[in-house]
Amino acid sequence: METPQLPSNEDLLAQIRFDPDQGTIWLHEQRVMLNQAAAWGLLRDELVESIGIQRARALLMRFGYQSGLRDAELARKLRPDLPTEEAFMVGPQLHSIRGLVHVIPLELDFDLDKGSFFGRFEWRNSFEAQVYLQHHDISKDPVCWSQLGYASGYTTYFMGRPIIYKEVACAGCGSAHCEIVGKPAEEWEDHAETEQLLLRNSIAEELFALQSQVSELQETIRAGKQDTLANSVGRSRAFREASQLIRRAAASRANVLLLGETGVGKEVFARGLHAASPRAGQPFVAINCACIPPDLIEAELFGVEKGAYTGAAVSRPGKFERADRGTIFLDEVVELSPRAQASLLRVLQEGELERVGGTHSHRIDVRIVAATNEDLKEAVAKGKFRADLYYRLNVYPVHIPPLRERTDDIALLTEHFISKYNTMYNKRTLGVSDKTMQALMHYQWPGNIRELENMIERGVILTDSNQMIDVHVLFPALAEPGGMKAVAPSGRLQAPPAPAAKAGPDELCERLLGEDFSLNRLEARLIRTAMAKADGNITHAARLLGITRPQLAYRLDKLNGLK
Ligand SMILES: [Zn+2]
Repeated sequence: METPQLPSNEDLLAQIRFDPDQGTIWLHEQRVMLNQAAAWGLLRDELVESIGIQRARALLMRFGYQSGLRDAELARKLRPDLPTEEAFMVGPQLHSIRGLVHVIPLELDFDLDKGSFFGRFEWRNSFEAQVYLQHHDISKDPVCWSQLGYASGYTTYFMGRPIIYKEVACAGCGSAHCEIVGKPAEEWEDHAETEQLLLRNSIAEELFALQSQVSELQETIRAGKQDTLANSVGRSRAFREASQLIRRAAASRANVLLLGETGVGKEVFARGLHAASPRAGQPFVAINCACIPPDLIEAELFGVEKGAYTGAAVSRPGKFERADRGTIFLDEVVELSPRAQASLLRVLQEGELERVGGTHSHRIDVRIVAATNEDLKEAVAKGKFRADLYYRLNVYPVHIPPLRERTDDIALLTEHFISKYNTMYNKRTLGVSDKTMQALMHYQWPGNIRELENMIERGVILTDSNQMIDVHVLFPALAEPGGMKAVAPSGRLQAPPAPAAKAGPDELCERLLGEDFSLNRLEARLIRTAMAKADGNITHAARLLGITRPQLAYRLDKLNGLK
């Protein structure tokens, strides 16, 4: 058999970026560090002293195993179309680039379909053997534990079945170089023991993780019974303060006014308020006043009597009657027509309403939670909103913070949406890469939580199972920050190559159609983005989209399932 050749490693070197201004180094989208090999030697010795040689060995093997797994994931991304042998060499080559060991392939024979594998590699300059020999005599057993774990983890993920490596010679034992042999687990006589090493504690860890999941779930259920606000996700100070105000209001009869930008989750808070209130068993009715044409809103809210106008063939109740004894949530209340404002004021003052075209009043007991992302006071000053109604609604105002004021919650929300959309699309994406998380934390979020949720949904759709969501999937236009240094083939740091020119409309279309494309989804995203940019103002958003306000209002209704 001819000796396997290593392909050029330039594609791998190009993935390394130094960003000293931010204190980070990147390998593709994984954050990595430069550590001293000697410090590792001390860690290893302390581990052996404190938990014994067997446990220390198992722990360091698993450490290497995890690193190997991640590099195999990278191999699939970086060399997807190459002959599989070249794709496989990403592992040995990254092992060398990482500065752990110089890998020289001696024999390599595998068949992905059959699952057969045999590999033999020489290891020179093994860092583990080197740091070991600095403080110890020649060892009886091989010492390159984490490197061996790396090879096993890498090949296992690459082959999709358990592959185990052994050191048949080790520099730590006095050989000139180390040499490793890898085969499918069951082809080793003592494979059970080795697999045990790789997995033993992970079973304990899994149990531990399950246990904490169970208690978390129990906690959620317990909290959920009293207050579904606890189910909404957040631990930042701004979020907790708003939740606290809502919880206090819940017990009272006060009408509540929720203030905040588009997409901050006002309806979630309104539902939380309802669920925590004595009205929890009664209906909760939500309505977005901006989505209903002004001439229909009165009938929609207060009902209509037969014959009130052409087309009113039957009498029907409005949203208020349907919400009787419960809570009604009026989003974008500033959009109410003057007549609807007058009727709403009557509900607030007298607790009764009259259907459009009706002759007698109905008693009604509804708690009103109104919301607006526009300054209501300003609307009053401009004569667009009744002052007396404003004072009635503004008894208990609660400001819902924008996402950029609760960056502490971004990681939590991201995790929450990933698990939601993994379930919805039957995927198993592995979460977001370190670089993606960094980008999420620095983004300004004009569309707030709704924008984050849309973005994560898109990320889950476009990312394969067992892959992490890469930053370019969520932020296609994100340029690399200035000050980043790349590694040239010579091994020296240099400025990275200039990014490709911005894509023109044709290229953009080509790219879109190449992905998992849906025109409806793209339209929905465009509309949501425009609404977010326009802070929920439909007229502005329509202008951004180059369509008329009624055209946009119609599409919004469709999006919200009203048409
Ligand atoms: Zn060795």
